[in-house]
Amino acid sequence: MEQNEGTNIQPINHNHRMYEVHPMYEVTKVLKGKGKGKKYCNGCRLVLSGPSYRCEICFDLLKSAGQKEFYLHKRCANLANKIQHPSHSVHPLNLYTSHHPQIGRTISCDDCRDICLGFIYLCEQCDFKLDVKCAALRTHKTAVSQEKEMARVTESQHFNHHHKLVLGYCNDPIDETKCTICELPIIGPAYFCREYNCDYILHESCLRLPQKIEVPFQWNEVPFQWNEVPFQMHQIPFHREHVLLVASSPMKIQSHSVMLALLR
Ligand SMILES: [Zn+2]
Ligand SMILES: [Zn+2]
Ligand SMILES: [Zn+2]
Ligand SMILES: [Zn+2]
Ligand SMILES: [Zn+2]
Ligand SMILES: [Zn+2]
Repeated sequence: MEQNEGTNIQPINHNHRMYEVHPMYEVTKVLKGKGKGKKYCNGCRLVLSGPSYRCEICFDLLKSAGQKEFYLHKRCANLANKIQHPSHSVHPLNLYTSHHPQIGRTISCDDCRDICLGFIYLCEQCDFKLDVKCAALRTHKTAVSQEKEMARVTESQHFNHHHKLVLGYCNDPIDETKCTICELPIIGPAYFCREYNCDYILHESCLRLPQKIEVPFQWNEVPFQWNEVPFQMHQIPFHREHVLLVASSPMKIQSHSVMLALLR
């Protein structure tokens, strides 16, 4: 392998199930960057500090998915493949990357509810998941009180999707997660589908968009462009001042954006 500037001659090995054992190269202080140029660990998704390494093989594997670089803390490069943790003491947890084919869906940590795009410890039998930062705490905490304070439901349903949706938080500093409906990045609470191969995920606000809205236009005054979006338009009997718009199913993304604009 070509030896880049800022790398060490001595490789260390890391193995996180998806891949063979990879040689890694030490990152110098210069590479770590400051402020906006800060680098993050692809395993635990926290800021790089202390001894850190880069893996060219992981970078190559994930390049097509938009990965720009692949770094790991030394401690994350050497994570145990199997751990026992007080959060799930009945079974051991195995280390995976969230890209692992056996994962194949959006996952969140069962402790902090953060949506995990890095490494995750999983109990296959119970589908219990713990991200690396929570696994490092070695204690059991819950995010439940936070939801109670915010009066946030942990499970929901959307009329446009036949699977159940669950609450998670998008906090990832490396990769953006975009809302299926409005296509804008999600930062903070989100509702996502846990089914295999289904990447349906919504802003909390997009989840609450109604399927039907009344708009203050007469039937013959409805703006022309509304005919081009997949709404069904209904006349409301004895009520000529409004038109009822019903999002058709399966609803197209643009139609919901129109609805979003109307509600603002
Ligand atoms: Zn890390
Ligand atoms: Zn690697
Ligand atoms: Zn967590
Ligand atoms: Zn288990
Ligand atoms: Zn949205
Ligand atoms: Zn789904």
